Amino acid sequence: MNIGFIGLGNMGGPMAANLAKAGHNVTGFDTADVTIEGVAKAATAAEAAANQDAVITMLPNGQILRTVADQIIPAMAPETAFIDCSTVDVESARAVAEQAASAGMLPVDAPVSGGIGGAAGGTLTFMAGGSTAAFEKANPLFDIMGQKAVHCGDNGAGQAAKICNNMILGITMVGTCEAFALADKLGLDRQKMFDVVSTSSGYSWTMNAYCPAPGVGPQSPADNDYKPGFAAELMLKDLRLSQQAAESADADTPLGEHATRLYEMFVEAEDGLGMDFSAMLPRFEKRGRG
Ligand code: NAD
Repeated sequence: MNIGFIGLGNMGGPMAANLAKAGHNVTGFDTADVTIEGVAKAATAAEAAANQDAVITMLPNGQILRTVADQIIPAMAPETAFIDCSTVDVESARAVAEQAASAGMLPVDAPVSGGIGGAAGGTLTFMAGGSTAAFEKANPLFDIMGQKAVHCGDNGAGQAAKICNNMILGITMVGTCEAFALADKLGLDRQKMFDVVSTSSGYSWTMNAYCPAPGVGPQSPADNDYKPGFAAELMLKDLRLSQQAAESADADTPLGEHATRLYEMFVEAEDGLGMDFSAMLPRFEKRGRG
């Protein structure tokens, strides 16, 4: 396939490289001058998007996605699959999809989980929203960049799945960290706490697979001085998107709201910026109730 790839950052760069490695003709554009092995460079986003079978975007937020969509949609050939893999607000995803569909494109919102390691290793999970025709056109590319793609529903459903998942993740991480900090103060050994909870009804991905306590459970960012992994500021971004969506859909999400406030404090007023999101544990450790 001929593929345009816009946004060649931490995630987009290795994703584009994997498509090129699999034998596709990939032309990339990024406002920062980056070079990706096997990927031809275009001078503008429109140039990267012109005359392609598929165009993939991997951008920081919904506002930038909307700006880029305005630039590329007029340049794209009809029936081009427009696959947005960025994590953005549901409203921007739906607005851009509508704009693309009415210009004759096949839009799919397809945010990912799996992080930078998943992007490099081609093991991402894609959560896709769009028509069946659009999903089917995009699916062979998901196969190269990832290990699993779920067609979640119409446009916007991929972003909805992503922010609901990450709202659970943020809430669960806070719960796991505050429970460890309580266990410390009750004199309970962390390894014993892990041995019990990881095999009891408190088990979760944050406890069992990504334990926030150093030296306990499988290797995780806690064992590497809380270097990310998944940075606290990215968790904050996703929690904010969940709350923006909850507001526009009139959904009651009290724990999501509280987790958002905690990560906001941690990233903006404390020392959470640049730390893994599991560094909530040392944060709680230092605090009392006051
Ligand atoms: P990044 O900042 O490394 O990459 C974004 C790239 O977009 C940058 O290279 C930037 O120069 C480029 N860009 C910005 N404006 C542009 C424009 N107008 N035209 C062309 N290029 C432009 O970010 P990332 O970590 O690669 O994340 C990309 C997206 O993936 C985000 O939406 C993020 O939330 C999501 N995501 C990231 C991770 C992760 O672990 N990093 C995991 C899952 C999802």
